[in-house]
Amino acid sequence: MTKRIPFIAGNWKMNLDHQQAIALVQKLAWSLKDHNHDYSTAEVVVFPPFTDLRTVQTLIDAEKFELKLGAQDLSAHDSGAYTGDISGAFLAKLDANFVLIGHSERRQYHSEDDSLVQAKTAAAFRHGLTPVICVGETLEELETEGASAVPVRQTLAALAGHEVLLPFVIAYEPVWAIGTGKVATAEEAATVCRKIREAIEAEHGAGVADATRILYGGSVKAANVAGFLNSADVDGVLVGGASLDAEEFSGIARFQKHLAL
Ligand code: PEP
Repeated sequence: MTKRIPFIAGNWKMNLDHQQAIALVQKLAWSLKDHNHDYSTAEVVVFPPFTDLRTVQTLIDAEKFELKLGAQDLSAHDSGAYTGDISGAFLAKLDANFVLIGHSERRQYHSEDDSLVQAKTAAAFRHGLTPVICVGETLEELETEGASAVPVRQTLAALAGHEVLLPFVIAYEPVWAIGTGKVATAEEAATVCRKIREAIEAEHGAGVADATRILYGGSVKAANVAGFLNSADVDGVLVGGASLDAEEFSGIARFQKHLAL
């Protein structure tokens, strides 16, 4: 079985300008250093807004921080007349390692459907970025279809039709738990993550399923993270609100300490 390194991701959403970004990244890196965080036991990735990426990349390089960098979206196209869109080529040039695709806020406010999420996933692969593909059901879908039907369907749609499936990450985020303070139980999160892995295995083979990191996201805090990561089916967390507080996010990244308690 592949050892999957836990993945701790902070989605800043549309918060913090490039100057505020410097302060947060410095505080986060220093806090992790003060607590002797071992990045080989939990990878820590920040996803700032586009306008912060260059600043954060320069800071990470200059200070040799071990944090990794991701973007919150990318275009399905590589270049051309797509005003306001950002090419994966530009993100790769900025040394971004990861890109969020299909976050529920993109699906909801920008009408991103499964075929666009698939095309964006292909664009990420073309540019050597690791897509973090976000899937999850709304409250209404939970009531009509149960917890795993929609996330499994969205996962398989995003992964369909690629010649080679390069490494990718899946983030299971029940829409009803994002920014609401309502949290899925650790058991609920683990069950859906396991169903997603089984579906990947059935469609793409045991090797891909075994190597893929599947995260939980939705109102994660330092106080509840350990419960989610206690399960072998959950390989990390995607954190929104709590990632804007350096100490809180550092506490989430150091979840192994809470597990040991
Ligand atoms: C998110 O934005 O992906 C998220 C999970 O947000 P929050 O942690 O604030 O619920």
